[in-house]
Amino acid sequence: MSTRCPAAEQRRLLDDPEGIKAAWAGFKNGGVVTCPSTGAQLSLAVDGASGSYRLVCSGCGFPSPWFNAGPAGISFRDNDPRSSRF
Ligand SMILES: [Zn+2]
Repeated sequence: MSTRCPAAEQRRLLDDPEGIKAAWAGFKNGGVVTCPSTGAQLSLAVDGASGSYRLVCSGCGFPSPWFNAGPAGISFRDNDPRSSRF
């Protein structure tokens, strides 16, 4: 059984840098970050080679762009973080 998350809600959370920052902050604090409309849990994917992260919805598999996280906050790994999605 899978939970489908409305695309608009996913984009607001995972295509919005502020949304990703908020979700990342939740992870750093040891919390569970969920899709705002369905409650499907977001999981954290790690690219160990480059030290990058991304968030992936466990309900529908919708991924955020890859990002790097450091003391000053997060930054997107690619110039166009959305280019690989479409
Ligand atoms: Zn989803």
